Amino acid sequence: MATTTLTKVHNFSAGPGILPAEVLQKSAEACINFDNLNLSLLEISHRSKNYEKVMEEARATVKELFEVGNDYEVMYLGGGASLQFAMIPYNLMREGGSAAYVNTGVWASKAIKEAKIIGNTNVIASSEDKKFTYIPKGYVIPKDADYLHITSNNTIYGTQMKSFPKCDIPLVCDMSSDIFSRKVNAKDFSLIYAGAQKNMGPAGSTMVMVKKDVLGKTGRKMLSMLDYQVHIKGESMYNTPPVFPIYVTLLTMQWLKKNGGIAWIEKVNQQKADAIYNEIDRNSLFYGTVEKEDRSNMNVCFLLKKPELEPEFDKLWKSAEISGIRGHRDVGGYRASLYNALPLESVNVLVDVMKEFEKKFA
Ligand SMILES: *Cc1c(COP(=O)(O)O)cnc(C)c1O
Repeated sequence: MATTTLTKVHNFSAGPGILPAEVLQKSAEACINFDNLNLSLLEISHRSKNYEKVMEEARATVKELFEVGNDYEVMYLGGGASLQFAMIPYNLMREGGSAAYVNTGVWASKAIKEAKIIGNTNVIASSEDKKFTYIPKGYVIPKDADYLHITSNNTIYGTQMKSFPKCDIPLVCDMSSDIFSRKVNAKDFSLIYAGAQKNMGPAGSTMVMVKKDVLGKTGRKMLSMLDYQVHIKGESMYNTPPVFPIYVTLLTMQWLKKNGGIAWIEKVNQQKADAIYNEIDRNSLFYGTVEKEDRSNMNVCFLLKKPELEPEFDKLWKSAEISGIRGHRDVGGYRASLYNALPLESVNVLVDVMKEFEKKFA
């Protein structure tokens, strides 16, 4: 098969985000001829031996990267992380029970909205008072709630939890935008979920890893497609799974493992984040938008001190083949997303552009 040479664009997109070039290449090949079957991955049964192997590995690799045992199960589901906002309370909140949530941004708020429809939902901490520019700390976690829901990284605002609350109740975490970016003690969590399209793979599948002991306790009659136990029993094939996104996600996890795993990427991600935050703090024309101690290593939000210079800055980064650094419409300014597949080299290019901008306009 002919190989396509991708033009070198420095892709800082917040999501769907950058994927490793070799993963794109292998995925493209699988669309034409998967596993030397002379069939496309897109036209074979998900129950074929070849695909079953993909699914098995895709589930096992999550557990391997998170270093958890057989008390956890992994599912790949459709519906995005947003469907999990509903499935989590539906599966974990007992009839007459309650749940606790920490509100750190738009995604957390959407999770809270769904949970309130299912049952008694208490927002025990929030950073809404300062437009979600910090991570709330020192809150009291109710001992009688069925679970505590947190968001490890706030994609839109660029804040990240550097440590996680110690709690006696099941801890549930939306890790959509920083999964596998750093070492976490996964055994402290009862449920971790991530829409794949930020840091794990392409759009179309959502990974849910759950500790089995929290399931089956709600007392409610469960709709099959919304029941984790149904999907676990069906090994994520209760219905036709999003076969291609799961395959690309597997390739992305294999790329990570091959290069040195979480320990390797955590270091690279720290170098990337240090490079750009140091420049934001040093450069007289920029400032960061969030509390320093809560700065995200994945989504770096920054503004111009003189917003009227935006068109000039835009010209510069566009001419450097940089893409995807426009800020979310709620925050404005700029957001550079430094997901796993983004090389340090791309960050260096952006930093150089910022320096050049300062030379010209400061
Ligand atoms: C993008 C994002 C979501 C929503 O994901 P969808 O797959 O679009 O539903 C949820 N949580 C976080 C933290 C996100 O970054």
